[in-house]
Amino acid sequence: MSVTTLSDELRLIVGRDHVLDGEVDRFGYSYDSSFLPLVPAPRPDVVVRPRTAEEVSRVMALAFAGGIPVTPRGAASGRTGGSVPLHGGISLALDRMTDILEVDEGNMMVTAEPGVRTMDLHDACAARGLFYPPDPASWKFSTIGGNVAENAGGMRAVKYGVTRDYVMGLQVVLADGTLLETGGKAIKNVTGYDLTGLFTGSEGTLGVITRVLLRLIPLPKARGVLRLLFADMDAGCALVHRMLKAGIVPSAAEIMDDVSLQAVARHRRMALPAGAGCCVIIEVDGEDAAELEAQCGRIRGVAEACGCLEFKVAQDKAESDELWAVRRGLSQAVAALAPNRLGEDISVPRDAFPEVVRRIGAIAKRFDLLIPVFGHAGDGNLHPSVLCDMADPAQAERVHRAVDAIFEAALAVGGTLSGEHGIGITKRPYLAQALGEAGVRTLQAVKAGLDPKGILNPGKIW
Ligand SMILES: Cc1cc2nc3c(=O)[nH]c(=O)nc-3n(C[C@H](O)[C@H](O)[C@H](O)COP(=O)(O)OP(=O)(O)OC[C@H]3O[C@@H](n4cnc5c(N)ncnc54)[C@H](O)[C@@H]3O)c2cc1C
Repeated sequence: MSVTTLSDELRLIVGRDHVLDGEVDRFGYSYDSSFLPLVPAPRPDVVVRPRTAEEVSRVMALAFAGGIPVTPRGAASGRTGGSVPLHGGISLALDRMTDILEVDEGNMMVTAEPGVRTMDLHDACAARGLFYPPDPASWKFSTIGGNVAENAGGMRAVKYGVTRDYVMGLQVVLADGTLLETGGKAIKNVTGYDLTGLFTGSEGTLGVITRVLLRLIPLPKARGVLRLLFADMDAGCALVHRMLKAGIVPSAAEIMDDVSLQAVARHRRMALPAGAGCCVIIEVDGEDAAELEAQCGRIRGVAEACGCLEFKVAQDKAESDELWAVRRGLSQAVAALAPNRLGEDISVPRDAFPEVVRRIGAIAKRFDLLIPVFGHAGDGNLHPSVLCDMADPAQAERVHRAVDAIFEAALAVGGTLSGEHGIGITKRPYLAQALGEAGVRTLQAVKAGLDPKGILNPGKIW
């Protein structure tokens, strides 16, 4: 089918204004937040922005008949190239499907279209005293459909888990356009295989998510934020480890090393005491101020035993927001240090966190690169950022070898390739190493069964 015919057919489904095939529009849908330098640059042939699941279904049926690649796209905040249309075809943007369809207070569940921003979903539930905990640092712009497709994590995973822990059911459009409903509001459900779990984290390669049903919990009534400074990462890691072992489970425990800390201090004009080489940001929540105070007191005790240099408790909402802004702005602050930044995302058993940090330090030395580390220390998920200039071919070669070594280090300590950003394009070469042959064959059978023509997000994961 020619591109012109395809555009015309798509216009019949979604209306004239919601099909984009101009040069500039196609460029706008060619990249995501991984900013992968791909040659040749992958552009979609056409962008389509459906409003309903029925329209998505008709788009998929058309694509299936013509064997046309389809790349679903939320807010393109993904870090592994997931919404980059590697093989051209259709970029299927879900950004017009933005309705929160129901907040079911009785069952404590919310039903939403995939294009709803994560923070908007959170706020709509919070307004009714209900809590949707997953909070990726990108929540101001990422979509809930993208979060489910990536099984996104966030700061609060240490206490509340990740997106998967809240997905109760999905509406999915399969490769041939069939509409499938999975799960539902029944809390206990073991009827057949776990289809909801299968599509969660499938990175747009098994189906297009057109509606999500999420479980909620009561909103904690009180919340406090702390900033703890240490001389080095070993001391910061020790705090997190000892705190959890002592049964103190904060709602978030984020760690950053010296380079990350300096970058963010410069970015936000923050004064730091001399000798501070590691920062831990902790959030505690509970029923009331007294409960928070008790938790803070216990954390202070552990922190002092770990050689804490400074223990700061935010005194009001503005100070809390400022401390969180430090963490949420970290990615951008670190990225500003070099022309390129390869932000990796590995996940290791919690007690292996200090060991893998040490190994990454050794890798940085071996390849003569700057690799700051920050991450969700509470749940063992770290983001080493390889800072570099990829225009320098010799450096680019060292960068690739360093990234290989980082993944090897994660696997060597019993960890995995991704805690939250998925495999996408960037981690495909390492899949077999992480899953083993039998694991890969099983996933391949699922992919072939659900997408026999290989039109859904080709080039991702596989
Ligand atoms: C500054 C920054 C901070 C970040 N922090 C975090 C973090 O703390 N935790 C975390 O987990 N991630 C984080 N991310 C990564 C990213 O925000 C998440 O992966 C997010 O879930 C992607 O959502 P999106 O709507 O932007 O999806 P996109 O990037 O558009 O797509 C991601 C993948 O999902 C697929 N997809 C999107 N929508 C659908 C759908 N409706 N149906 C089927 N497939 C679909 C796409 O094809 C693609 O493979 C961060 C990114 C940035 C830029």
